[in-house]
Amino acid sequence: MWSDKSLIQGRFVMNTPEISFIEWQRRFSTETDCINHIKELRWPDGFRCPRCGHNEASLISTRHLFECLQCHKQTSAISNTLFHGTHIPLVKWFAAIYFISSDKGSISALRLKKLIEVNWRTARLVLGKITFCNGTQEQLVSAIGFN
Ligand SMILES: [Zn+2]
Repeated sequence: MWSDKSLIQGRFVMNTPEISFIEWQRRFSTETDCINHIKELRWPDGFRCPRCGHNEASLISTRHLFECLQCHKQTSAISNTLFHGTHIPLVKWFAAIYFISSDKGSISALRLKKLIEVNWRTARLVLGKITFCNGTQEQLVSAIGFN
C-alpha cells in the first residue's frame, strides 16, 4: 500500500539528497504545504471524513485539522504520525527530515538545534524520531502508524 507514495521511498528519505535545500524549502515553506503533503500520503484517494464519508474539508492549518464541510467533524492531519502531538511547526520537522536524511545519521542534536531553531531537548526528540524512521520501511510504517 505504500509503494511509490511511501515516506521512505517517496520524497522524504531516498530522494532528499537529490534536491537542494532551497528547492525543498520552496516545496515545504508553510504549514499548509506540509499538511497537504501529509494529506496526500494519508489519503491517496482524497480526504474522506471518518464520520460521514464526505470528501470535502477545510483546513485549519494552525491546528493541523481538517474540518468536514458536511458534518463539521474535525480530523487531525497528524494523529498517529511521526508528528503526532507536536508543538513545533511542521516546516521545522520537514527541514529536519531534509538535514537528517541528507546527512545519513551523522548530524548531532546540537547542530539540528541551530539549523531548525528549537531548544536542545526538542532537537534531540526530533532527531530520535526521524532517525528511528530512517531504518527500514517497516520500521517507518509502524512508527508513523498510517493504516
Ligand atoms: Zn463529515
